[in-house]
Amino acid sequence: KKVGIVVPVFLEAEKHVNRVAVIDQNGKFSYEDLLHYSSNLALVIQQMMSPKALKKSSCVAFLCENDLSYVVAQWAIWMNEGIAVPLCKTHPVSELEYFIADSQAPLVITTEAFVDKIEPVSRKLNVPLFVLKKESYTGEYKSETQSDPSLSLKLKVYYANMLRDNKYKNLPAMIVYTSGTTGRPKGVLMTHGNLFAQINMMVEAWGWSKSDVVLHVLPLHHVHGIVNVLMTSLYCGATCVMLPKFDSKSTWSALLNQGQMVHSVQITLFMAVPTIYAKLIEYLESEVLNVNGFNLIAKFVRSSCQSKIRLMVSGSAALPQPIMEKWMIHTGHTLLERYGMTETGMILTNPLHGERIPGAVGNPFPGVEVCIGKPNVYSATGYDIITRGDSKHSKTTPGMEKESGELLVKGPNVFKEYWKKAEATKAAFTSDGWFKTGDTAIYCHEKKVYKIIGRTSVDIIKSGAYKISALDIERHLLAHPDIRDCAVVGLPDLTWGQQVAAVIVTRPEVTLTLQDIKEWAGDKMPPYHIPRIVKFLPTIPRNAMGKVNKKDLVTQVFG
Ligand code: ATP
Ligand code: MG
Repeated sequence: KKVGIVVPVFLEAEKHVNRVAVIDQNGKFSYEDLLHYSSNLALVIQQMMSPKALKKSSCVAFLCENDLSYVVAQWAIWMNEGIAVPLCKTHPVSELEYFIADSQAPLVITTEAFVDKIEPVSRKLNVPLFVLKKESYTGEYKSETQSDPSLSLKLKVYYANMLRDNKYKNLPAMIVYTSGTTGRPKGVLMTHGNLFAQINMMVEAWGWSKSDVVLHVLPLHHVHGIVNVLMTSLYCGATCVMLPKFDSKSTWSALLNQGQMVHSVQITLFMAVPTIYAKLIEYLESEVLNVNGFNLIAKFVRSSCQSKIRLMVSGSAALPQPIMEKWMIHTGHTLLERYGMTETGMILTNPLHGERIPGAVGNPFPGVEVCIGKPNVYSATGYDIITRGDSKHSKTTPGMEKESGELLVKGPNVFKEYWKKAEATKAAFTSDGWFKTGDTAIYCHEKKVYKIIGRTSVDIIKSGAYKISALDIERHLLAHPDIRDCAVVGLPDLTWGQQVAAVIVTRPEVTLTLQDIKEWAGDKMPPYHIPRIVKFLPTIPRNAMGKVNKKDLVTQVFG
């Protein structure tokens, strides 16, 4: 049976065989190593599974470490024209069971590290488990070795056929489950065409090239870690430095080019979520700058980040302005905030060159169309479009300039369907094909940028005549020197409809009261933004992407 890479995303891999693709805890690996290990695994899978069990477009779930094993498994699945379903080591067993059962995978691939965790699940569901041994994805970097000519030829023929027939576009590639911030995670099925579009948009907007070296510290079961960081770097022939997991110390070491893993390369790109930036700032301020001579170290951190790293990106959740400001002070970098979601990949971005406005998420990526729509049951599509602002169109209905509404998206990046959820898929699109993000946005005409006000379902607090953004209040509260973390919600109120409530985590050994907060906020926030109710907690529960399930939080904290 023929083995081939069906993904044009990897068309480029052959051009870079001798370049370093991945650096991880086991060593350095070239693109040739990657092709070699993954095609070997692809063949093993074929031999192991009967063609009946592993049909075209079968899902294959995989639970690997944040290292080369992940890429090897993912590429091998694609070489067999399967749908890759990434699982995460931090998921509880019950979740793993849900994902495997929901995707109906006939096979699970894992590494030795996770056998104990996943074996009972595979036994219970009666799904075979393939354990990838360390030898099959580690070894010395061999830049001098020749490509296997027969493999190379097979791949070329395969690519040529796939491209000629333009088959890849609609071929299902991956199911990624949403972060589960507002409910049970939904399986998002995307095609190779979706991934290709998502990657190309980022290459163009953020100026990726093969000389980039990206530092990867994110979970590998969400679009941010999988597509934005890992796949885009491999598509470009760049180098991806993969830490086994995020921790502040090793991330700083890598960013500052200290330590074994990165001794011969220089990180040029970094992408993370706001909570990671917050942790990095906290670590730097409490463990590094206070302990060591402040000035020298601070100067070193700043000059090193400024001179060697070309871009630092934040996304997956709103970036609070105090974090952006502190990051600027410590590293000299204005974080580039972008907005996207699992269903669509990236949608809006601040510019690579040009002003990055705090609290705004810029404009659509190349090829993406967006608009702001207001629900209207009398309109044929269910929505009145009030603003269009992409490269092809730009107009706002007169008189609606200050109106917010639901952000709607179209483009080749938008997913195919929710896995086995036909009803949910139908409900997610307007009758004229716009995907409904569920997020409320506003177009700022003065600066010509979009702002995300929050999730329509939980972040827009309606109090009296006001529509208040919980994200705005969170941004303000985080500027308080003693507030370490916070989440703002609306609680039902007989008089006002809803009132603003905040869950707050203070810095250690600091006690605050509602009164303290009210006094501090008095001259900084509009009166109707100031929380009426405050609960202090030691931590706020957040998911793997650093996001809060606000519905759960309200039940847990306010009953
Ligand atoms: P679920 O759909 O399961 O409830 P989720 O929406 O958090 O979870 P993701 O697809 O990972 O799952 O996240 C997309 C959401 O993250 C967006 O709809 C938006 O609410 C939020 N988001 C992402 N980037 C930003 C940003 N820069 N500013 C504000 N919100 C953002
Ligand atoms: Mg969502």
